[in-house]
Amino acid sequence: MNEIRNVIIIGSGPAGYTAALYAARANLHPLLIAGSLDPTTSRIKGGQLMYTSDIENFPAGIQPPDLSDYPSEEETQAAIENVHGLSGPDLMKRMELQARHFGAEMLEEFVESVDICANPGKTYRVKTVDGKEHETRAIIIATGASSKRLGIAAEEKFFGQGGGVSTCATCDGANFSRAKATVAVIGGGDSAMEEASYLSRLDGIPKVYLVHRREEFRASKVMLKRAQENPKIEFLLHSTVEDLKGKPHPQGETIRFFKDKEVLAAAVLKDTRTGETRDLEIDGLFIAIGHTPNSELFKGQLKMDEAGYLEHDGRMRAIPSMTCASAEMRSLEHVPGIFVAGDVSDHIYRQAITAAGMGCQAAIEAERYLAETMVAEAGLDADAVSLSDETIAQSHWSSERESGEKPVIERIMEAEECVAAEK
Ligand code: NAP
Repeated sequence: MNEIRNVIIIGSGPAGYTAALYAARANLHPLLIAGSLDPTTSRIKGGQLMYTSDIENFPAGIQPPDLSDYPSEEETQAAIENVHGLSGPDLMKRMELQARHFGAEMLEEFVESVDICANPGKTYRVKTVDGKEHETRAIIIATGASSKRLGIAAEEKFFGQGGGVSTCATCDGANFSRAKATVAVIGGGDSAMEEASYLSRLDGIPKVYLVHRREEFRASKVMLKRAQENPKIEFLLHSTVEDLKGKPHPQGETIRFFKDKEVLAAAVLKDTRTGETRDLEIDGLFIAIGHTPNSELFKGQLKMDEAGYLEHDGRMRAIPSMTCASAEMRSLEHVPGIFVAGDVSDHIYRQAITAAGMGCQAAIEAERYLAETMVAEAGLDADAVSLSDETIAQSHWSSERESGEKPVIERIMEAEECVAAEK
C-alpha cells in the first residue's frame, strides 16, 4: 500500500466519471477504479452505456455542427437538422478524457472488497482483484446497476450496438423506429409496460409484442391497463424466449454502429403450457425483466433496500447497515466519508444525466467532508476558511478562479501554511 488517497471513486459510468471530474477540479487527486474493457462481463468499464448505440437525451451529448457563439435563427435551423447523438461508448470516452484532463487517475481493475465497518471515519481500505490495497479517506460508490439478462447463449451475440437486443428503449428505441422495425419486449413488470408503451409511441415502429411467461403481472394496474388498451401492443402470454435467430445485415442499413455480424431476425418462443415452440419474426428485442444494483460488496456494511439499492441521507452520504459488525458504526446516522451516486442508489430515474448529477453531488459532499476533516485535524479557525454550501459550490463555477474561488482544499492548505509561519 502506498500513499493515503483523498478519495477513491468506484465505478466508471456517468456517475463515476462526473464525480472524478469534480473531485479532480477540486484538487482532491481522485483515483477512479474503473473496471475493465472486457466486453464479456456485464461490468464493463464505462457501464451500461457501453451497450448503447445513439444517445439522444444527454444534454449536449451530440455531434454538433460548427456554430458561432451567437448563431442566427437560420444557422440554428440548419444545425438542428444535422444534430445526432453520440454513441454510448463515445460519450463515455469523452467523460473519461475530461476527468483525466483535470487530473483524475484511473485504474482499470475491479474491486474485490472494501472494509467500511472496521474503521468508520478514519481511513478505508479498497482491495482490487490484483491483490493490491488502496487506502483512502473517502469513497464514492458509483458501481451502477446491471440489467438482468435472459441467460440464453444467443443473447450476447445480438446484444447492443445495432445487433437487435437491448435493455433500454429510451436509449435505443429511436434507432429501431428509423429502421421501421417490429419489436418485442420481455417482462411483466412496470419496466416492461413502460418500455412497450414508449416504443409504441415511436412512429416508425409498426408493432410491439409484449412477451410474458405467465398471465399474472407484477406491473401496476394502471400501467398494465394502458399497455393492454394500446392498439399497437400485442400481448403474448405463457411464453418464454428459448433462442434467437439471426440474418445477415441488409445493405444500406439504417441502424448505426453495426458490427460485422448478423442482426436479429426472430425469437424462438416456447409456450410454457404445451412446450411447443414457434418463431416470432422481430427486428428488436427489449429485455425488461428488472435490474440488479451492483452493491454486493457493501452487503452487511451499508444500508440498502430489499432489492439491494444503496440508501443515502439526501446528501449522498451512505447509511450504515444495522447488521454491520461495529457498534460504533451502527450508532452513526451516516457513514463518514462514504458517498453513493448513480444507479446503484437509484431505481426510479436510472438515466445517464441523473447519474451524472448525483456524481457531482457526491463529489462536492466528499470535498466538504475532507475539508472539514482537515480543518479539524489542523486546529484551524473554521470561519476563516468558510465551508458554507455557497462557497464550496461557487468554487466549482469558473475555470478562471479568482482568489475567493479557489478549491476549498487549496484554501485550507494556505491557511495551514500561514498558521505554521506564524508559529
Ligand atoms: P419487476 O417488477 O421485478 O418485474 C420483472 C418482470 O420480469 C416480472 O414480470 C418477471 O416475471 C419477469 N422476469 C424476470 N426474470 C425473467 C426471465 N428470466 N424471463 C422472463 N421473464 C422474467 O421489475 P421492473 O419491471 O424492472 O420493476 C422494478 C421496480 O421499479 C418495481 O418496483 C417497479 O414498480 C418500478 N418501476 C416503476 C416504473 C414507473 O412507475 N414508471 C417504471 C419501471 C419500474 P414474473 O412476474 O413471472 O416473475
